[in-house]
Amino acid sequence: MAAQAHIARPDPHTASDKEWGEYLFMRKNPKGVHFERWFHANGCRKWFHMARHTVSHEILAIYGITEPAPKLDGGEGTS
Ligand SMILES: [Zn+2]
Repeated sequence: MAAQAHIARPDPHTASDKEWGEYLFMRKNPKGVHFERWFHANGCRKWFHMARHTVSHEILAIYGITEPAPKLDGGEGTS
């Protein structure tokens, strides 16, 4: 399973309902490079990050769960 990676968690005490709702529910769905957080549920049960192109399904990078997104051509690197 996979989900969008590098989502900053707002402070729940100061975030507005709109900010909190966007944090919980709004996810990018790009046509291009997507930074994802993966869990290898049926294998080694490790979490890892993957930069994947959503059209070609090319895997552009695999990196550790605590590492920031790499800068890639055609993608937005975030930390
Ligand atoms: Zn694994």
